[in-house]
Amino acid sequence: MLGHGQTNAVRSTNARPHLVDSFGRSVRDLRISVTDRCNFRCTYCMPEEGMTWLPRADVLTYEEIARVARVCVERFGVDGVRLTGGEPTVRAHLSVLIEKLAGLVVPATADSPRAGQPIDLALTTNGATLALIADDLKRAGLQRINISLDTLDREKFRHITKRDELDSVLEGIAAARSVGFAPVKVNAVVQRGVNDDEIITLAAYGRDHDVEVRFIEFMPLDAQGHWLTDAVVGQDEIVSTIHAVFPLEQVPSRGAAPADRWRYLDGRGSVGVIPTVTKPFCGDCDRVRLTADGQFRTCLFATDEFDVRALLRGGASDDDLESLLRRAVGEKWAGHAIGQVTFVRPRRSMSQIGG
Ligand code: SAM
Ligand code: SF4
Repeated sequence: MLGHGQTNAVRSTNARPHLVDSFGRSVRDLRISVTDRCNFRCTYCMPEEGMTWLPRADVLTYEEIARVARVCVERFGVDGVRLTGGEPTVRAHLSVLIEKLAGLVVPATADSPRAGQPIDLALTTNGATLALIADDLKRAGLQRINISLDTLDREKFRHITKRDELDSVLEGIAAARSVGFAPVKVNAVVQRGVNDDEIITLAAYGRDHDVEVRFIEFMPLDAQGHWLTDAVVGQDEIVSTIHAVFPLEQVPSRGAAPADRWRYLDGRGSVGVIPTVTKPFCGDCDRVRLTADGQFRTCLFATDEFDVRALLRGGASDDDLESLLRRAVGEKWAGHAIGQVTFVRPRRSMSQIGG
C-alpha cells in the first residue's frame, strides 16, 4: 500500500488525469449524499422514530459540494456523479445543485469514454415527490434516475416505508418516463419474509412499464442493526425465481457497475441484481463517496472517513483537497468482509452515508 505522502496517480497538463488505488482500481464514480434527512422511514435503512439529523451548519452547501465534484472531475477524470441521501429531493432547490454539476466536463485527456463530454449525472430517489419535480430536474441537466420501490402492495409499502405513498411513487416513476429519462431504473431491496414473494410481481412491473428493475441484496447497514444473513435473498435465488417465469440470459461483462444484468429472452427489457452480500464486486469497484457532512469515504462499508469539510472551511486550496482525496484512495481497502468474522459494521447507517 502507498504511504500518505506518496503520489498514487499521475497529473500534469499532458498526463491523463486518473486516480488509482493500491489494488489497481481507478476511481470514476463519485456518490454524493446531499442530505441525511428523509420523508420515508424504510425499515432496512432508518428507525421509525428517534433519528437525529445533522445540524444544518454541518451539511455542505451546494457550492462546497460542487467544488469537491469539480476537483474530482478535473483532477482525477471522474466521469460520473450520483446524488443520493437520505432523500435528496427533500433538500430545497436541488435543481440548483444539478445545474452546477451538469456543467462539469470530463477532461479531454481523461481515460474515459466520456472524455471531453459532460459528466454522467444521476440521482437516486424514493420518488415520492418526483411527479412534481421531474421536469425541473430534467431541465436542470439531470441525465439518469433510479427510483426505489420494494413492493406493489399498498399495505406492505406502508409497512416497509412507514408512509402511505405507493401511489405517489408510481406517479413519480411515470413522470420520470414522461419527461424523457431513459432508462428509468427501479431499485428493490429484497428481504426474506417481507417482499421475497413479490420478485415476479416486480419483474412483471418492470417489463410492463419499460423500466429496468434492479433487485438489491439486503445489506448490514440498517440503522437498528437488525440485519441477519437469513434475511438476505441472494442473487442466485432471485435470478432463478424470475427465470422460471420469464426466461433470461445473462448480459456479459458488468464492468465496474454494481448490477449484474440479464435480458428477457422474449425481448421485453432487462433486469439487474446488485449482489453485494453473496457475490461481492469489490474487485471492480470504481466508487468513492462524500457524505452530507463532508466526509469522504472510499467504501460504503468503510470504517474510516476523511474530513473534506474541515479543508473546505479552513481555506484549503484545490491542491490540498486533491492531496487528501489521493491519500484516502491510497488507503482504500480490497473489499468488505460481510459474512466473515472480521466484518465490522460502519458507525453510520445507510441514510447517513448515502446509498
Ligand atoms: N432515499 C433514496 C432512495 O431510497 O432511493 C436514496 C437513498 S437510499 C439510502 C439509496 C438506496 O439504498 C435505495 O435504493 C435503498 O433502497 C437502498 N438501501 C437502503 N438501505 C439498504 C440496506 N440496508 N440494504 C440494501 N439497500 C439499502
Ligand atoms: Fe429514506 Fe431512501 Fe432510507 Fe428509505 S432507503 S428511509 S427512502 S433514505
